[in-house]
Amino acid sequence: MSAIEKLLAQLSIEEKVQLLSGLDFWSTAAIPRLGIPSVKVSDGPNGARGGGALVGGVKAAAFPVGIALAASWNLELVGEIGAALALEAKSKGARVLLAPTVNLHRSTLNGRNFECYSEDPFLSAEIAVAYIVGLQAQGVGAAVKHFIGNESEFQRATISSDIDERALREIYFPPFEAAVKRAKTFAVMASYNKLNGTYVHERRELIEGLLRREWGFDGLVMSDWFGTKSTAAPVAAGLDLEMPGPARHRGAKLMAAHQAGEVASEAITAAARNVLRLVERVGAFDDPEIAAERADDRPETRALIRRAGAEGMVLLKNDGVLPLAPKPGLKIAAIGPNATTAQIMGGGSAQLNPHYSVSPFEALRAALPEGVALAHEMGCANYRLVPMLTNPAKVEFYAGTEFAGPVKLRKNAEEGFFMLMGAEAAAISPQDFSARLRSSFTPTRSGEHALSLVATGPCRLFVNGELAVDGSDWSAGEEFFNTSCAEVVAHRRMEAGVAYELVAELRPHDQPRDIELTLLRVGAAPVMGAQDLERAVALAKSSDVAVIFAGLSADWDSEGIDRPHLDLPHDQDELIARCAAVNPRTVVVLQSGCPVTMPWLDQVAGVLQAWYPGQEAGNSIADVLLGRADPGGRLPQTFPHRLEDDPTRINYPGELGHVRYGEGIFIGYRYYEKKKIPPLFPFGFGLGYASFKAGALRLSTHRLAPGGTLTASLEITNVSARAGSCVAQFYVADAKASVARPDKELKGFVKLHLEPGETKAASASFDMRALAYYDCRDKAWVAEAGAFTLLAGFSSAEIVAQAPFELAANWIDDSPRRRA
Ligand code: BGC
Repeated sequence: MSAIEKLLAQLSIEEKVQLLSGLDFWSTAAIPRLGIPSVKVSDGPNGARGGGALVGGVKAAAFPVGIALAASWNLELVGEIGAALALEAKSKGARVLLAPTVNLHRSTLNGRNFECYSEDPFLSAEIAVAYIVGLQAQGVGAAVKHFIGNESEFQRATISSDIDERALREIYFPPFEAAVKRAKTFAVMASYNKLNGTYVHERRELIEGLLRREWGFDGLVMSDWFGTKSTAAPVAAGLDLEMPGPARHRGAKLMAAHQAGEVASEAITAAARNVLRLVERVGAFDDPEIAAERADDRPETRALIRRAGAEGMVLLKNDGVLPLAPKPGLKIAAIGPNATTAQIMGGGSAQLNPHYSVSPFEALRAALPEGVALAHEMGCANYRLVPMLTNPAKVEFYAGTEFAGPVKLRKNAEEGFFMLMGAEAAAISPQDFSARLRSSFTPTRSGEHALSLVATGPCRLFVNGELAVDGSDWSAGEEFFNTSCAEVVAHRRMEAGVAYELVAELRPHDQPRDIELTLLRVGAAPVMGAQDLERAVALAKSSDVAVIFAGLSADWDSEGIDRPHLDLPHDQDELIARCAAVNPRTVVVLQSGCPVTMPWLDQVAGVLQAWYPGQEAGNSIADVLLGRADPGGRLPQTFPHRLEDDPTRINYPGELGHVRYGEGIFIGYRYYEKKKIPPLFPFGFGLGYASFKAGALRLSTHRLAPGGTLTASLEITNVSARAGSCVAQFYVADAKASVARPDKELKGFVKLHLEPGETKAASASFDMRALAYYDCRDKAWVAEAGAFTLLAGFSSAEIVAQAPFELAANWIDDSPRRRA
């Protein structure tokens, strides 16, 4: 009998039930009587935040976000990042990282696009496997998420993603299937949403059937936070762990359901077994201590993040202005809202308190040789929420809603934001308290300022004792996972150099809630105007090169909300167009976790897509701009000309509680190619600084037997005078199929680094699944006999070689039907 079976034999039914919900926000329950320790988990995915709130908390390393990792197409690098993330998790006492996020880029507007890898299931799966293997090899478990159909944030807690079986099998399942079968992920996190009308975590055929029986998963399935909706059905479906704790739908409710005969003891035992397996796999039986959280700022991690940032950056356009040659006497203008603000990550549960963050302006100033002038103008803003007050604040909490009696809890906030977690949250009653935040604000310029509040209950902001922002009439909006009101903004004139006293108050609301959070955010910033734009244009004109740092930020690219459109917010388009009109050497560095429209593209000399590259953001960007690193990225998502071209345009965001994945398997380039809609930049595209030439494409055979494997090899030569990298992409086309198929599908890729003049071969192998489609009628994978084409190229639109081959007879894998 294994150790786990022995434990199961000794556990009472009450104890087993106890194991099936979290102990607290971030850890599993312990049973000290039997030496079963608690296991701590942490978000994920671009670092390990630990148990702290989204802002503040123990500092942690901030890595490039998901889309930036996928843009590197570099599996070795992603494996190294996985290993480094394991160290990060351990520094926070965590043994499971709530990552990676492998939902697909279905709509360009998805708020969590930045966190997910790609529109392509193959690329997503490969990156996910590298990440999980790297992480788990160091003993930290992955919880791949969110299974399944969480492709947008719109009404995510209740919406039904209506997806046909073929699209599930060919597009949405593969990254999870690879995480389970190849990477042996320790855990899977169920998504919030419903699939075809029923909550995912209540669907037995998905968890017990597909994950466990068909794919052989023997790890743990956990809910998303506050995602469990009922007691009996999820246990029967195979959802092992309700998170966070303490129990909401389990505990006493589950015991009662069990006693009423609604939940079998076998189901409870099976779920407890999976919890114990996780405890065992992460080594917690041998080392049960949950270490205190530390901030480990490692030089090796800094270097890895800096390198990874550049590896994922995609050079979209270059008229020869990049890399910059910073000769003495050169005047460089660093313009735009993202020049002096480091945009390092997206928003939501992936946020963390970084060790530090480097802005592009700081990095350039440090990197540029003496004699090169660097000047800055912001030009315009790009925020969604008024930028947070950056002064520290003191917060006092009282019992009761009247700010009376002794102070129950005091808290120092680094900025104008507080959110209660863990022991702090337990110190007050979320329905019966009052909180007062005190801080100050000293404007750096005179003029109109925006002041704002976002909070989980009625709130007010006083400036020098005068009511300035009134959020007393409270109702929940989309902010902070739908727990907070829409931002309340007020404008007032403020003078430079004057220290204004700010006092914000928060009271609880009395509306029913799914997620219990207590938070308040104060915004304070000058309002930008025409004169700011003019000054930026004048600077561009008087400079030799104008680099415009434009794009979005973590409050646009965020969990909890989708973007309203694809355009750059505020006056950024105008800023870029006007600077380009006065300076032909205008380069745009875009930071976003998604495509944006570029109406000024023809006017500018260069565009670098830099995503959110983590704490070294500015350094990675400066390395690329100055040619110290090659922009190694290739787009993991098609960039359309306009939102109207998006494959999901007529099926987004959904209505009446359903979002129909009406485009089926045709997302991303599969759609643009079928519809012959030219994208702004195709999937897989990116220039780099070197140039490459491909030789002949060689196949191991031109006649493949069913069940066989095909190998393709493409010779590539660096024909430029610079070292650089390229990504050989292999696509399979099945034009003769009896069902509709995409024009081609990515089924292999190799990232090569080549010295000037060097030639290397890129080889990839293709099994039968690479040729197959999913036959819904027969519930089987089918590769149809006859002609196929293997295409090799540098993007989905730049095919440099192709070769025909034949499959000698039909190949069928009916395991989905047999295991159903
Ligand atoms: C997110 C998850 C995350 C969890 C814990 C949820 O809101 O969807 O991805 O791991 O919160 O923070």
